[in-house]
Amino acid sequence: MTADCLFCRIVAGEIPATKVHEDDVVLAIRDINPQAPTHVLLMPRQHVASAADLSEADTPLLGRLFSAAADLARSEGLDGGWRLVVNVGPDGGQTVDHLHLHLLGGRRMHWPPG
Ligand code: AMP
Ligand code: ZN
Repeated sequence: MTADCLFCRIVAGEIPATKVHEDDVVLAIRDINPQAPTHVLLMPRQHVASAADLSEADTPLLGRLFSAAADLARSEGLDGGWRLVVNVGPDGGQTVDHLHLHLLGGRRMHWPPG
């Protein structure tokens, strides 16, 4: 737990969030400012600042995050497809420095992203 990290505080239950999935490794919550009908954030319980900090040792963690995303896409009924986004650093648009996947769906996505 990193005391000044918003998502660590959500994981610890200090800040409320709408949880849609929780297990020993992953927490998934609804984004407070949704950009699509389904907008879920999947994060590891453990603090990892960003995807830039990942190494091969994190392979199991990433497997759990991606498989939880696929399970949630199914339970959210995103049968027509969905998108996973990971923003990294200031140029990538990252505003919370705790690794998270954005699961977006329920509308047609555009490409290229902004
Ligand atoms: P990023 O910009 O990729 O770091 O994504 C951070 C996301 O966290 C944004 O989409 C925010 O809307 C979302 N967010 C910020 N604060 C909260 C919160 N308290 N509960 C849920 N989502 C949040
Ligand atoms: Zn954190």
